Amino acid sequence: MTARTPLTVAVVGFGGMGGHHVDHLDELSYFEVKGIRDIRESQELLAKKKDLHVYPDLQAVLDDRDVDVVLIATPNDSHRDIAVQAMRHGKHVICEKPVAMNAAEMEEIMQVEQETGQVFVVNQNRRWDEDYLSVKKLRDEETIGEVFHTECRIHGSRGIPGDWRQKKAQGGGMLLDWGVHLVDRQLLMFPERVTDVNCTFQHIRNAEVDDGFRLTLTFESGKTSYMEVGTFNYVALPLWYVNGTKGSAVIHSWDMDGKVTRLETDREPDARPIKAGAGLTKTMAPRFDDGTVKDLPVPRVDASIHEFYDNVYETIHGRSEIIVKNDEVLRVMRLLEKAFESAETLQTVKFEAPVNAI
Ligand code: NAD
Repeated sequence: MTARTPLTVAVVGFGGMGGHHVDHLDELSYFEVKGIRDIRESQELLAKKKDLHVYPDLQAVLDDRDVDVVLIATPNDSHRDIAVQAMRHGKHVICEKPVAMNAAEMEEIMQVEQETGQVFVVNQNRRWDEDYLSVKKLRDEETIGEVFHTECRIHGSRGIPGDWRQKKAQGGGMLLDWGVHLVDRQLLMFPERVTDVNCTFQHIRNAEVDDGFRLTLTFESGKTSYMEVGTFNYVALPLWYVNGTKGSAVIHSWDMDGKVTRLETDREPDARPIKAGAGLTKTMAPRFDDGTVKDLPVPRVDASIHEFYDNVYETIHGRSEIIVKNDEVLRVMRLLEKAFESAETLQTVKFEAPVNAI
């Protein structure tokens, strides 16, 4: 491939994720980070140590004609305004997730994207997580028959970090933080209409925002997808549990340890009842070593988040179609609003997405 002329990037918000992007972009020859803008002096000092230019304010970023791309990694309540201003100043935008506070803000962003012709893309980086891609592969290749139910759990035990993530007005809470990734992936996993949304919140130490949630999506075919985030789970449950018509799979952690158990026969021998607890069961009798099932390793998938940046670069140059599409992001925001409604009303809520958004 011929050398690509680098695009110049300014990072707005040089905290955890802003720093992470700078590290990634440093590995790529086709993006060059010129500088950063952050409201905290500590972050400005850190940037100077890394020989990055420090912009005194957002206007200075917008006025810098060298800057092709503004990368937004600030708290969620500021994404929309920065994105809109950047596009109106002729910049392309890479924005952190969740794209904004709600679907209406995303609609406004999409309107400005259309008016200005700039590229706006959201970093749904967890589409490149190997555990997700492995489950998607199982589903696509029907290794365990037709996958009819998935469970994905993200468990930690430290509560929500004590910053903006605890504040509702800044878009805090785990549903917006992690839910946006998990829902995004499940909508890609099952490309069909969602009919029902059921969500409950945990408020273990945070009254203002959810510090955990349990969300079930029901799809038109009856398939279900369960997603759980907990920040007070001192013992973590497996990251994935997957049911197919001919097998089950478990992935314990991001290290990809787990197994796939597949049915190897169409003619099941009758089960023998076993004593279990204080009773007897035939239905739940385990399989003995009779060759009816086989354990397989979890499929591995070679994936790199560099594909995201590469796709953004190529899309900006009109040579590729964007992978993370804005109407997909909008659909996730609409669905999350239903999840909030479900948690607040303690009801299952219907999701009536427009036909063109499945
Ligand atoms: P953080 O608190 O570590 O960093 C945010 C930075 O933005 C801080 O340094 C803060 O001083 C600065 N800031 C705040 N308001 C600003 C403004 N108006 N202008 C300029 N700088 C401003 O937070 P974080 O964990 O880096 O999260 C930032 C964004 O990245 C959030 O939207 C979050 O959801 C997202 N994020 C994404 C991932 C992912 O994997 N995609 C992971 C973590 C965070």
